[in-house]
Amino acid sequence: MRGVRVWARLLGVERAIVEDAAFEEETGSLVVRVRLRRRDRNRCGVCRRRAPGYDAGDGRRRWRALDLGTTKAYLEAAAPRVQCAAHGVVVAAVPWARHGAGHTRVFDDTVAWLAAHTSKSAVGALTRVARRTVGAIIRRVVADGRAVRDPLAGLARIGIDEISYRRGQRYLVVVVDHDTGRLVWAADGRSERTLERFFDELGPERSAALTHVSADAAEWIERVVRRRAPEAVLCTDPFHVVAWATEALDAVRREVWNAARRHGETSLAQDLKGARFALWKNPEDLTERQHTKLAWIAETNEPLYRAYLLKEELRMVFALRGVDGIRFLDGWLAWARRCRIPAFVELARKVAKNRPGIEAALVHGLSNARVESVNTKIRLLTRVAFGFHSAKALIALAMLSLGGLCPPLPGR
Ligand SMILES: [Zn+2]
Repeated sequence: MRGVRVWARLLGVERAIVEDAAFEEETGSLVVRVRLRRRDRNRCGVCRRRAPGYDAGDGRRRWRALDLGTTKAYLEAAAPRVQCAAHGVVVAAVPWARHGAGHTRVFDDTVAWLAAHTSKSAVGALTRVARRTVGAIIRRVVADGRAVRDPLAGLARIGIDEISYRRGQRYLVVVVDHDTGRLVWAADGRSERTLERFFDELGPERSAALTHVSADAAEWIERVVRRRAPEAVLCTDPFHVVAWATEALDAVRREVWNAARRHGETSLAQDLKGARFALWKNPEDLTERQHTKLAWIAETNEPLYRAYLLKEELRMVFALRGVDGIRFLDGWLAWARRCRIPAFVELARKVAKNRPGIEAALVHGLSNARVESVNTKIRLLTRVAFGFHSAKALIALAMLSLGGLCPPLPGR
């Protein structure tokens, strides 16, 4: 392999004809001039179908390619326009880059891979690409990935949830496939209309194919699912139900603490404040000190200890699952209803109201655990990545990293 073919190989443009390669002093970069092979000429940039030539467009264009060693490299070629029957007058397709891109496909894929696997500062420093451009590249790669593998294909059991980002000012609705653990859809907002868009994209046939949908007990989610996928079994996510119990327990603890403070029992108030984590934690995760703390609560504050046991028993319901879980749930409801702790009487009412969904979750063993794990990762992405002044950029990065749309590193 000699001369120009070496350049073609190095730049990943074997499908083009290399005319020459030269070092450009002004920009300190290598510029490789190429032209298309006959069979690749006169194709629409959008659909890549054959189309008659229209004009020379803006003349020659450059695409940033991967660095060669430490030197920046560009491909340069003519960029004529064609007249596509479907897409009108558009710039002709080139085999080495996505339509409208200023970077080669290999460059795009490398940036996307880095964005999914490393820090934003590493991506920027290594590729010498501005943050905004990284966002644009990710969106291109994700759009391309969707065209190859539709994330909405073959869904049967999904989980729906909302997550907050930007300090709770903005929300995303996310949909996760229970069977693959992949993020399949996300959109800005948290309303019935937002979720309706998911079912619009899914279409009636694939909506009808959904067998199970798990969600927290948000009524707006339930309403949309009932309307758009009436055949699907709606499961109330156990994590959220246990979270309600934790909140109720915390309300009881605060009340007891406030009462203690009002009565001038400052040391009791102090001890109760310290008990917060002991009450929150699952018993199997308690430290010895926290065990002691719980024992102290059992001795000194009976209602708070009962509230703790009520929370733990509700957690047991979901650990047991199935028929045993349902039997346990009956017992729990009976106990909670007459426990004379207002927060838990209220919780009993809420659980009873959501009983069909909770039972379905127990019977089908479906929880939003996978959705929660995806949510945790999205929250991490919002923190580490790219400014995210637009939800679109965040969603694209989430789909890239968690939706299975990240391309492999080129050439591996
Ligand atoms: Zn076209």
